[in-house]
Amino acid sequence: MTDPRRSLPSVAQLARELVASGAAPESLCTVVARAVLTNARQRIAAGDAPIERAALSADAQQALVALLRPGLRSVINASGVIIQTNLGRAPLSAAALQAMADVGGGYSNLEYDLEAGVRGTRGGRVRELFQQLTGAEDALVVNNNAAAIYLTLGALANGRAVIVSRGQAVEIGGGFRIPDVLRQSGARLVEVGTTNRTYARDYAEAIDAQTALIMRVHASNFRLVGFVHEATLAELVAVARAHRVLLLDDLGSGTLLPTAPYGLPAEPTVGACVAAGADLVAFSGDKLLGGPQAGVIVGSAASVGILRRHPLMRALRVDKTTLAALEATLLTYVRGRAIEELPVWRMLAAPAALLQQRATAIAAAIGPPACVVPSEGAVGGGALPGATLPGYAVALPGGSARAARLRHSTPPVVARIVDGRLLLDMRSVLPEHDAALIDVLRADA
Ligand SMILES: *Cc1c(COP(=O)(O)O)cnc(C)c1O
Repeated sequence: MTDPRRSLPSVAQLARELVASGAAPESLCTVVARAVLTNARQRIAAGDAPIERAALSADAQQALVALLRPGLRSVINASGVIIQTNLGRAPLSAAALQAMADVGGGYSNLEYDLEAGVRGTRGGRVRELFQQLTGAEDALVVNNNAAAIYLTLGALANGRAVIVSRGQAVEIGGGFRIPDVLRQSGARLVEVGTTNRTYARDYAEAIDAQTALIMRVHASNFRLVGFVHEATLAELVAVARAHRVLLLDDLGSGTLLPTAPYGLPAEPTVGACVAAGADLVAFSGDKLLGGPQAGVIVGSAASVGILRRHPLMRALRVDKTTLAALEATLLTYVRGRAIEELPVWRMLAAPAALLQQRATAIAAAIGPPACVVPSEGAVGGGALPGATLPGYAVALPGGSARAARLRHSTPPVVARIVDGRLLLDMRSVLPEHDAALIDVLRADA
């Protein structure tokens, strides 16, 4: 009997078929053909049945398609968590996307003063908008909030001490640990208080000539309950002022709007922290702000000015498309349209009855055994840990097996498993994705 490996086409033959599809240059087609043939030989050697010529061609085409497909894809977030770091945090508004396309697709006045015809400043308008929206004297935008904190500590506390409550020397997620960032920035961490209770006097007693600043860190992804105490921002401001040290407030999510009207606990707004007297307030652009990935530092003109002139600033600055999206997002707030037009706020503010309607329509479209159940969504993204948003989900049997199939669908759907059932929580599904979700679920029935 002849060796079935001998009946395989040559690399060149298979590559020619791929080249004929016009999808990729010959060099890449050759790489794909070689990989597919190597795999085929291994399968035959392992005792598999001879591979049909047509199946081999199909394998090669599929391998090429997979290689040309972007790895980063749009997914439907049916987890119920609105700001999901693993799923890209805040979806951008139509205005932000339009601004990115307008500015990114051509040249712009990024650092050019059109009036005077000379070099201008990057991000000038965004700075004005943050001043207007938060009441701060000055504002600066960097790559993300981690960069904002790194820059602040590096510029204002290098070689000096930073006082942090033991209950706030925490890990935010993704390996971002406050003690590590402090060390990296050249500052020395001085922990005060205990894990569960820290008083204003603990900070005051720790201040000495080496102290540069007091840092408050928002408890983004955990809650301390029971016998706990934290100093208020007003108390910390008083301590910092009395001892002439700076106060940095890492707000994490940093909301510009109050959260209480949506049945959530009151998250401090950036404006309230500025008004309370924090010298610097740092927060993310892509959490509750609802914009692109960015880190924002607002505060006193003196402190923000030092950061702006620091050499690290050049390494941490954002690009034109980020600035365009951020500016459009902030203009949405200025126009008073954030709740209606920013996806994060639209989802957060959606009444439960509306989510029930959408879930009912989806369940009806796919038929039994789909049904509608009450479900608890969450804001996520380091805002309001433990707080839930009552809503509705489409429930389906077949827990983890179905979840895996849905993750492999087009578009992929990320859902939640509760008590062995698969829940598609409408809280985090963009309404414009309902039709696509129905298609995916129907195909999976
Ligand atoms: C999310 C968060 C950070 C990190 O922000 P990035 O924008 O992801 O860099 C820092 N501090 C707190 C309190 C956070 O919640």
